[in-house]
Amino acid sequence: MSWDTDWLKKRARITPDRVAVVDGETRERWTYHNLHDRAERLASYLLEIGVTKGERVALISPNNIWYFDLMFACTKLGAIFVPINWRLSKNEIYYILEDCQPKLIAYHDKFKPLLSSRYRGSLLNINQQHEILLKKTSLQHYFVDVDETDPLAIIYTGGTTGKPKGAVLTHQSIFHNAINTITSWNLTGDDTTVTYLPMFHTGGLNALSIPLLHIGGKVVIDDKFEVQRIIKVINEERCTILLLVPTMYHVLTETELFQKTSFPSMHTFLSGGAPCSYRIYDAFAKKGLAFKEGYGLTEAGPNNFYINPNDVMKKRGSVGKPMLYNNVKIIDHNGDEVRCSEVGEIVISGHHLFAYYWNNPTVTAETKKNGWLYTGDLGRFDEDGYFYIVGRKKDMIITGGENVFPLEVEHIIAEHEMVAEVAVVGISDEKWGEVVTAFIVPKEGVSLMKEEIELYCKAYLGSYKVPKIIRFVSHLPKTAVGKIDKKQLVEMVL
Ligand code: ATP
Repeated sequence: MSWDTDWLKKRARITPDRVAVVDGETRERWTYHNLHDRAERLASYLLEIGVTKGERVALISPNNIWYFDLMFACTKLGAIFVPINWRLSKNEIYYILEDCQPKLIAYHDKFKPLLSSRYRGSLLNINQQHEILLKKTSLQHYFVDVDETDPLAIIYTGGTTGKPKGAVLTHQSIFHNAINTITSWNLTGDDTTVTYLPMFHTGGLNALSIPLLHIGGKVVIDDKFEVQRIIKVINEERCTILLLVPTMYHVLTETELFQKTSFPSMHTFLSGGAPCSYRIYDAFAKKGLAFKEGYGLTEAGPNNFYINPNDVMKKRGSVGKPMLYNNVKIIDHNGDEVRCSEVGEIVISGHHLFAYYWNNPTVTAETKKNGWLYTGDLGRFDEDGYFYIVGRKKDMIITGGENVFPLEVEHIIAEHEMVAEVAVVGISDEKWGEVVTAFIVPKEGVSLMKEEIELYCKAYLGSYKVPKIIRFVSHLPKTAVGKIDKKQLVEMVL
């Protein structure tokens, strides 16, 4: 073992009195000493009920400090923390529980009916039992040795493209993402974030929360994304950095309150997890606020790139350059690196990569080859070495033999002044193979005609890229983390 996986213990010795975590609702505050003490007590309780190294401990709950309690307790025991996406269907949740076979399921009160009818094993109702347990459990200081290559968490990916897969993250994966993020994004102990992205998702847990706890920063944890509330929390807690998915930025930037508010403490607004429309870039630029886009995935980090805020508008749409301690390549079908401007698959290597998919050696072997993660995403880089995400390989449309990247069409349609939101998918077609299909949410109170969009697209896009099918809808279906659910859109047409 080259470093101590229980780094929170050291952090609690270095900065015991600094605030580590704040509850967004109650504004209750836990110092680093409190956080570590809670983890130690919970680990002792888990040990008492027989949780041992390598066993899984699941959590089903909205964002809450319990995520940190359980994760750090698992860290001490070498147990594996499995935060579960509670917005999934009952069957999907049962599928995940069957897959990972947890020794204990900790759950928020509201999920009691979901579990009590089916699981008789170890259940922990965190609303009723957790705080009592923390107070009454006697501390045990003997915990087994945990190695950096031992699994720390299984995060089931959102399932945007299929059945959830459990990405196993080791202590090393999470540590290296944290170090890479701190050094590349210049985070310090004076940084504060508020985490609205779900903590069962890598964006909520690993993008900023864990890196900030490494460096002694402050994490406000909240589960209600409401514009008024988020602005209040940012300004009252003096947040400096925020990560949201584009859908959330879309809601935020459209409000009058956003237009009226200044954010004096904030140095970075970050978007990630899905393509971001240029309208959002412009909304921040207009207010003189630093906004940038990141790219990542559960299996790699999720943080992989850094862009200097001064470059954002001249390289609009770029996620920047690879961070300090990872490698990124764009490759063609033969595995050779593409030249500048050519589109290919993004592959990533580094110590931040996941180890394997739980119970799924076949997909692991397809995804991770010779230390490189095949992301299934397409990208390109420009003459200055700036990278751009082009879209998912699976989403690329082949129409009449021509390749169409939905994101390019989406960016154009999103710029139309009467369009609120847009998503483009390929629909199978006998004549064309696939046809470019656009789903458009018009801005409130306007009525748009198909012909108008067609004419507009023809002015900016090659004819084969112009959508042949255009559907106006009142909203776009979204996944649990707020990404557009393209699977559902395709089903709406078939
Ligand atoms: P699946 O379960 O199908 O693997 P997911 O969306 O649930 O998908 P996540 O790990 O949550 O998996 O998200 C990672 C994916 O999000 C990336 O593979 C990429 O397709 C998309 N993504 C992340 N950042 C960006 C970005 N800046 N621009 C475009 N797409 C992005």
